[in-house]
Amino acid sequence: MAKFRRKHVWERAKGHCEYCQLSQEYSVLPHEIDHIRAKKHRGPHTLDNTCIACAHCNAAKGSNAAGFDPETDELVPLFNARTDTWDEHFFWDGAVLFGKTPIGRATIDVLSINDPSCVDQREYLIRADLFPPEE
Ligand SMILES: [Zn+2]
Repeated sequence: MAKFRRKHVWERAKGHCEYCQLSQEYSVLPHEIDHIRAKKHRGPHTLDNTCIACAHCNAAKGSNAAGFDPETDELVPLFNARTDTWDEHFFWDGAVLFGKTPIGRATIDVLSINDPSCVDQREYLIRADLFPPEE
């Protein structure tokens, strides 16, 4: 990806994971450019198919494109940061992320966004008034 495009992807995400909203500023590991539709599924290397993901979300997502909604067991696509609106699919209750929709719930489940270590980290950030990020 050309340098200017990489910069665009980072600026568009404002330095936050586009799944769990963790800021790069408070992450030990570097955030990564995620291919929303993985290369192995013929996902293009374009601005419309990329987002910023923290190392945890990106590793858990892998090449997954879909997941099962834990409530309905329906197979649904994962959250797409380019075509879906975060607030329509997710909401915070303290440090725990909840899904409003099958897409939100399946994404939280596949990406293990409420992994205890992630919740612990968010609780520390909330106590320091550093999370969730302001828009
Ligand atoms: Zn994340």
